Amino acid sequence: MSANYCEVALPVPLRSLFTYAIPERLASSVCAGSRVLVPFRNRAMAGVVVELSARRPDPERVKNVREIAEVLDPIPALSPKLLELGRWVGGYYVAAPGDVFRAMLPPQIDLRHERELLLNDAGRARRSELDAAVNRSETEIAELALLSLMNIEDRPVRADRLRKLPGGESAAERLLRRRQLEAREVAVHRNARVQKIVAWNSAHGDGPLAGAQTDAVANSLTEKEARIFHVLAEERGPLPLPALAKLANVSRSLLERLIRQGKLKSWDEPLAVEEDLFDVDYTPPSNILNPDQERELRKITGWIDSDVFKVGLLYGVTGSGKTEVYLGAVEAALARSKTALILVPEIALTLWVGRLCRARLGPSVAVLHSALAEVERAREWWRVRRGEVRVVVGTRSAVFAPLENLGLVVVDEEQEASYKQEETPRYHGRDVAIVRAKLEGAVALLGSATPSLESFQNARSGKYQLLQLESRVENRPLAPVEIVDLRGDFKKTHRAGPLSSKLTEAIGVRLAEGTQSLILINRRGYSWFVLCRSCGAGIQCENCSISLAYHKQRDRLECHYCGFTRRVPKTCPKCASEHIYFFGAGAEQLEEKLQEKFPGAKVARLDRDSVRTKRAYQQVLGDFASGKIDILVGTQMVAKGHDFQGVTLVGVVSADSQLSLPDFRAAERTFQLLTQVAGRAGRGALPGEVLVETYYPEHYAIQLAARQDYLAFFERELQFRRLLHYPPFTALASILVRDTKIENAIRWSRHLSAFLAPQESRGVKVLGPAAAPLARLKREYRFQFLLKAPKRAQLTRVVAELLAFSDEKEIPRKAVLVDVDPLSLF
Ligand code: ADP
Ligand code: ZN
Ligand code: ZN
Repeated sequence: MSANYCEVALPVPLRSLFTYAIPERLASSVCAGSRVLVPFRNRAMAGVVVELSARRPDPERVKNVREIAEVLDPIPALSPKLLELGRWVGGYYVAAPGDVFRAMLPPQIDLRHERELLLNDAGRARRSELDAAVNRSETEIAELALLSLMNIEDRPVRADRLRKLPGGESAAERLLRRRQLEAREVAVHRNARVQKIVAWNSAHGDGPLAGAQTDAVANSLTEKEARIFHVLAEERGPLPLPALAKLANVSRSLLERLIRQGKLKSWDEPLAVEEDLFDVDYTPPSNILNPDQERELRKITGWIDSDVFKVGLLYGVTGSGKTEVYLGAVEAALARSKTALILVPEIALTLWVGRLCRARLGPSVAVLHSALAEVERAREWWRVRRGEVRVVVGTRSAVFAPLENLGLVVVDEEQEASYKQEETPRYHGRDVAIVRAKLEGAVALLGSATPSLESFQNARSGKYQLLQLESRVENRPLAPVEIVDLRGDFKKTHRAGPLSSKLTEAIGVRLAEGTQSLILINRRGYSWFVLCRSCGAGIQCENCSISLAYHKQRDRLECHYCGFTRRVPKTCPKCASEHIYFFGAGAEQLEEKLQEKFPGAKVARLDRDSVRTKRAYQQVLGDFASGKIDILVGTQMVAKGHDFQGVTLVGVVSADSQLSLPDFRAAERTFQLLTQVAGRAGRGALPGEVLVETYYPEHYAIQLAARQDYLAFFERELQFRRLLHYPPFTALASILVRDTKIENAIRWSRHLSAFLAPQESRGVKVLGPAAAPLARLKREYRFQFLLKAPKRAQLTRVVAELLAFSDEKEIPRKAVLVDVDPLSLF
């Protein structure tokens, strides 16, 4: 069949594919999976060929078929398996193909593929031979010129340079055919590798502004300019433009405009690969597997050998050595000439695990995560696609890494919420990993100390294979957990601070004996609630229905949902009273209080406010790991995965902060967080202790986390889910309708409601529309429907029909947000 037409997925807000003709000159280079440049409306756009076809599309449907302009890469970006995976993602999450394929591909940067030629021994011999010859033909002269140039350069030379030599093109081809030259494809950035660096253009010279001067400047700025100013002041220096845009939550075009206006200045700097602090002097421990690890690993390698799809759930308490089992499984896959993919829940862990893999497995390991500069990410992606990489370590989106012949996909800490993408397509990295393993006939290995309810249920029902590590390595005991009842503490001391007397005392003991304390607090800022005592009004964000938090260092009120900030008002905006109070200690306050209590101690904080860059983040973690910090305060950033050997005390301040959220996963999340953070204690040779402060000591999530009894929690929570028809017993989707005008949001909700009401008779239960838990967010009013169905297929069908109906009613596409398998309803 010769294909004359193809279907292309384009990143446009339409739910369909687009038909293009393949011109004769491109017939041999367009395949399914190729990235192509096509005319769309009146501009050129890059898309992916999803399907080829020989038949001209129905002229009724497509009037004017346009031609593909260019094929972007020498090999199709997506393999047939990945195309199939993309179709599954689109179907299951009811997402538009353009969105899905955009999420799967490397960043769209101006990356060009070039051919480089290398001189080999045969070529060098040929050169000497020609050099010594007395009579040379014209073709031999051309060959000699080419070989001599390459000999002088002594490194790979770009093919187009050689082509410019007289007779160069055909000489190169002859030499390649005779294997006197070698060729390889490399991806290069079109421009030189530079990035735009942006700094504040202070009228007072380049030095950093201090104190009163800072305030004077800050007060004359617009809201967005102030955010940019503060980010630059906090980072104590210039930042790359994209990083600044992200941190300050402003658009790139605004930054460009401010540069043109002279408020910001910018210059180009060469792009350097960031130094990896963890990589300095690192040799991985050479552990000999214990019998538990050995036994479970043998099962996994057995599955890899048999080439059939299997899902294993490695359930092992914190510190039981799951990482060793993952690495063993990866080695087994490599030994069988297969490739392996390791997903971890956060960027810091990619570095940690990537470092381990590189030390153990050599340079064929690539690390892919969203904090890499786009050029870096694209280059690594293509290295994988060309088959130069056999192991990929990465965060969520690495599940689409273009490895071929995949034998193993590891999903570490499979219960983590960060695997869920919170923008379209709202896929779950773990679930996509399982489907990918299925398509490739590979093994999916999920690991956790606190598996998600869904996964553990699947393991119990026999859908997954349960693998278990029963105890910590070297039989180190799990640290005992004690619950501190804050109500009792208040009765005794009549002070309601973030630190109970018990916890304060315990930290003191650690300081005296020279070991470390790790304190978890799940709120950022100084106070997370600002209230007027006269009228009782909380000071809310202008854009969201949520209280602003006070940040003392910045001396501003800040919205943690949209980034809105304002100065702290002297009087209540509602009643003009002066009685404004701050409640609820956050991480910033806790750090301050600890420093006051223990002036001699080295206290540090790890949260999104204190560490805004990857480098700062690694610095703090590195300092804590090497013992330079005595007390580390942090948000859930500190709870996960890290292996700090010197920590003997873990304190949890306001453990119940999540329990009151209107979300069916609140208990599960609290249990997981407490178990994870408790697992940070006593991982080295010294035993540990955990103190959990709470106002709800009787809540089962807290009680069972204190006993570290996952199985009891699982049973209890499963009952609750069964009774209330929540996952894993029901397929769930959330539909959010949103608009800045409340009338629109209401009108559209009514339309959708009219469509959804009759669906109840088809087995899909519809709750809503109701005001969403966050009724207003980023200036938009939000209404929510929840759809529950006992069968997945019913749910998928109704959601797809709902979106078609929504298009029919001309409801704007961005007004209706679909979340299949939502992780959070908040
Ligand atoms: P988990 O991920 O299960 O919480 P890790 O994989 O981080 O646990 O392992 C915890 C610690 O135990 C690490 O420091 C690791 O090097 C060490 N470890 C793992 N396996 C062994 C072993 N067989 N013998 C000795 N130490 C081990
Ligand atoms: Zn008031
Ligand atoms: Zn807000």
